[in-house]
Amino acid sequence: MIDVSELNVTFGQGRSELRAVQDVSFRIEAGESFGLVGESGSGKSTVLRAISRLTQDWTGSIKIAGAELEHRRDRKTTRRMQMVFQDPYGSLHPRHTINDILMEPLEIHRMDRREARVLTALEDVGLGIEMRFRYPYQISGGQRQRIAIARALILEPEILLLDEPTSALDVSVQAEILNLLKRIQRERGLTYLMVSHDLAVVAHMCERVAVMNRGRFAEVLTTEQLRSGTPKQDYTRQLLTASG
Ligand code: ATP
Ligand code: MG
Repeated sequence: MIDVSELNVTFGQGRSELRAVQDVSFRIEAGESFGLVGESGSGKSTVLRAISRLTQDWTGSIKIAGAELEHRRDRKTTRRMQMVFQDPYGSLHPRHTINDILMEPLEIHRMDRREARVLTALEDVGLGIEMRFRYPYQISGGQRQRIAIARALILEPEILLLDEPTSALDVSVQAEILNLLKRIQRERGLTYLMVSHDLAVVAHMCERVAVMNRGRFAEVLTTEQLRSGTPKQDYTRQLLTASG
């Protein structure tokens, strides 16, 4: 489903050059849930931003269902692949109602039955339809993240790129959102690429996990290997120990 080969992302030039992602290759099967963990600054978000082409400073090859991606964002791929960010405020326009926020992608992509899709999307993420007429600041943080997920799902994508989708939420809300994401994935057979600095979250959500260290994949583990604590690399062992 997602085929990444020799991905490199370099920011800046000359003395300020930073190789944020170095020679990263991986493949995620359709319906699989794949996690990226690693310390702050190890390049996790940059991998997602390259795949979603929010960053265009990459080289290498990114294929979605066998089709090579361009550096420029195109409408067709955007529709198939949606992203959810850590801070739901960032992706929800503060002066737009929830209804407008959910309508926007439907209008951009000229989808039919827009109102019905908005109502279904709210229902899918466990929110009442009366939410439509509120503004992002009039709902809770957990509800805002549900709206961000509804907005990501409303175009019926095949892939969700999730960048720390629950890190800004308190622990009880975090569990609710993770369970929602898990249920949605099971029901729709979506492919997930999920970034988290929390190994427990990734172990709960993903079948395989790549450990990133300074822009590289230190190793790729199955969730079983992660749980049983049998990583091969010293770096992964340190990360496991550090997170208890
Ligand atoms: P965190 O867990 O803190 O979110 P991360 O693993 O997601 O960290 P990235 O955001 O991918 O880390 O950043 C990797 C490196 O690339 C960092 O050193 C960061 O400062 C740098 N970087 C990211 N985006 C840019 C940019 N647009 N311009 C210059 N440097 C950048
Ligand atoms: Mg990040």
